[in-house]
Amino acid sequence: MQRPDFVPIRSLATLTLALLLPAAAHAQSVPTVLQGARIIDGSGGKPIENGSIVMRGGVIESVQGPGAKPPAGAKVIDLRGKTLMPALIAGHAHLGITNGTKAGAENVTEANVTRQLQKYARYGIGTVATFGTDHDFIYGMRDRQRDGSLKVPAILTAGRGFGVPGGAPPIAMGMDKVYRPTTEAQVKQDMRELAAHRPDLVKVWVDDMGKPDMKKMAPPLYKAVIREAHANGLKVAAHVYYLEDAKRLARDGVDIFGHSVRDRDVDAAFIALMKKNDIAYIPTLDLDESFFVYKEQPDWMKKDFFRGALDAGVWEWLHSPKYEVKEKSRQDLAIASRNVQALHRAGVRIGLGTDSGATIPRVQGFAEHRELQLLVAAGLTPMQALQAGTSVNAGIFGIGAQRGTLAAGKRADIVVLDANPLDDIGNTQKIDGVWLGGEKVSKQP
Ligand SMILES: [Zn+2]
Repeated sequence: MQRPDFVPIRSLATLTLALLLPAAAHAQSVPTVLQGARIIDGSGGKPIENGSIVMRGGVIESVQGPGAKPPAGAKVIDLRGKTLMPALIAGHAHLGITNGTKAGAENVTEANVTRQLQKYARYGIGTVATFGTDHDFIYGMRDRQRDGSLKVPAILTAGRGFGVPGGAPPIAMGMDKVYRPTTEAQVKQDMRELAAHRPDLVKVWVDDMGKPDMKKMAPPLYKAVIREAHANGLKVAAHVYYLEDAKRLARDGVDIFGHSVRDRDVDAAFIALMKKNDIAYIPTLDLDESFFVYKEQPDWMKKDFFRGALDAGVWEWLHSPKYEVKEKSRQDLAIASRNVQALHRAGVRIGLGTDSGATIPRVQGFAEHRELQLLVAAGLTPMQALQAGTSVNAGIFGIGAQRGTLAAGKRADIVVLDANPLDDIGNTQKIDGVWLGGEKVSKQP
């Protein structure tokens, strides 16, 4: 539920039109039926065993139980023994910054962004929400994805986010186009320019990224970012670390936390504020783990599912001194895991996001599946973790009418798995195929 004073009319109307038009334009008369599989629809409801999904014109026409007859003339694909789930919605990503073992603004090109989006697609991700580091060409790519001429996951973009001069996010990390206002008047002006592009959300960085010498954003400025974003019908996602900042942001009306509170355990006052203002929480546990886990050589590192997601040279990079372990992140992950559990138990909406693509160790495509495992390790059930990455994220980003569940009228963005992720959440990594907009875009990653 939105708060009554906040209705993102413009962005929702734009999105609805943009998503419906290509489906109509490409309407095909021949339906395709995925038949005989277990269907986990993303809503949290009981799976359908031996069910069928009828797809036509990029959209799901119906979801049926056992014994349903396929429509006349349909192309039927036998998927007995497989499990179907909605394609994931990556709720916090960055596009173009990394390329091989290099990271920086010079990598942000259409070719590199396209390559990365194609990787996300192979890993079963149907929507990528990119958090404030895009260059303006992203809007043209978003348009071409929506009209069907660019075959990549759907793009939700925060365009250019709001950061701090000389502070977060560091330009050296490749985040060169971010607005860095110093006055409220400048915030207003920057927001007007951003809103003209009709972004899907607004990103703001408020903290010092754990570096005491880095300047934080002044509270009146982020308050202005939230106020001006809402005046333009846009939701605001915040980069946070400290509980005190998170409390202030929550009181000032932020819509989404794009990271975990990691300096301390959340308290009852914060939980109450999250509930009262219906603020969504995207913990990005993979981010914290990525600072130390590769040194430990976990079993999953040796598997093709991980290695296949790495650009050339990254495997060697992760085994070289260039990969610097940040010991403090172990504690950050432990606190973040406790906090997500406390907030989830209290009924706060938990979304799936990773910060994949922001740095080399945050491996796009793989990170989203690893995050599912980390959410389960933190105390969510496999079903709840899947909901975070599908229907809950769709709700957070306002795209629930088109995506996030397998149901009649939704986009046919579907992942085919060889095993049931409710038995073991790691089974989302056993991808047999990915369908986006009713077209098979890949077999295994
Ligand atoms: Zn980020």
